[in-house]
Amino acid sequence: MNVPFVDLSAQYVAIRNEIREAMDAVLADRTFIRGPHVADFEKDFATFCGANHCIGVGSGTDALTIALRSLGIGPGHEVLVPANTFIATSEAVTLAGAHPVFVDVHPDTSLMDLDAAEAKITSRTRAIIPVHLFGQPVDMAAVRTLAEARNLLIVQDCAQAHGATVDGRPLADFGDACCYSFFPGKNLGAYGDAGAIVVNDPELATRCRMTANHGRIGKYDHEFEGMNSRMDGLQGAVLRVKLFHLEAWTEARRANAARYAKLLADVPGISLPVASPGRRHVYHLYVIRHPWRDALQAHLKARGVATGVHYPIALPNLTAYAGFGHKPEDFPVASRLSGEILSLPMYAELTSEQAAYVAQCLREFNHPE
Ligand SMILES: *Cc1c(COP(=O)(O)O)cnc(C)c1O
Repeated sequence: MNVPFVDLSAQYVAIRNEIREAMDAVLADRTFIRGPHVADFEKDFATFCGANHCIGVGSGTDALTIALRSLGIGPGHEVLVPANTFIATSEAVTLAGAHPVFVDVHPDTSLMDLDAAEAKITSRTRAIIPVHLFGQPVDMAAVRTLAEARNLLIVQDCAQAHGATVDGRPLADFGDACCYSFFPGKNLGAYGDAGAIVVNDPELATRCRMTANHGRIGKYDHEFEGMNSRMDGLQGAVLRVKLFHLEAWTEARRANAARYAKLLADVPGISLPVASPGRRHVYHLYVIRHPWRDALQAHLKARGVATGVHYPIALPNLTAYAGFGHKPEDFPVASRLSGEILSLPMYAELTSEQAAYVAQCLREFNHPE
């Protein structure tokens, strides 16, 4: 049996007619950049997120950059980011002109360690970026307590967390801005690059909208220099169709996670992902840990099971940040996890036979000691 890591074609086959109709509508009215299809998606996605405003932009990286800039974060400011996330989180801080400050993560969840975050706050710290990594929300009540005590803005990286909630409340309730990616492999994926910023404050919404569109509202009355990051009409149309299915897909992911948990409960050597109570994990990734990760990954590959590692090098240890002068020991948890974590195949269409086969292959692994 072959089990791919993600299966975008299975999803496309199921919604092909709806997608093609939606794309045809864009081609018919040629609203290629922003336009009514993007506006309709923005309205629907704001509602889905339980928020007042959604601004469709060019990517998740741009969403973070625009949110930071629109909140006044720039040169001379520090922003706290977790040591284990995709580079876009810290890159956006740099793109906004500020300085990313890495924070170690919690060993059980791979999420930012808030005690470690507090220890890194200086007089220059302006914001914290909680990343809801793998689809598991950060403890946002605790983030808010910290942010209020230390006067920090909260920009959430929700790129892996469409539909995640905390104590039944939407993520947008807990911070200044929520930033989403619609990269094709995300839980809600476009057919190209796209992203969105979701906010409640109308003035911040306007500022984000202008920043994403050359600092303007009218055609040529630019109030400041912004950037060019506007959602494509085709992407808005595709995303709007897919948004109707997202809850069902999320429930299917959660059911697959529960299935893995049952199948793998007694397999020696494997640590399963921890789902914290009260926080709705949407399982963008199903990440286990194993001390013999590389050998295990090769074992699975030889049996037709594709896996991933998110991420193989913790951000402070990347060549891109060599100039910061960090040592792996400065981030002991993130540095250790990067050698142990393994992402199993996870998507709504994963069948029970596929999950059972993955579990059987994991059970058959004998580490090379
Ligand atoms: C995908 C991702 C991003 C960046 O999104 P793009 O749309 O690819 O720019 C940012 N942060 C995290 C955690 C991501 O997974």
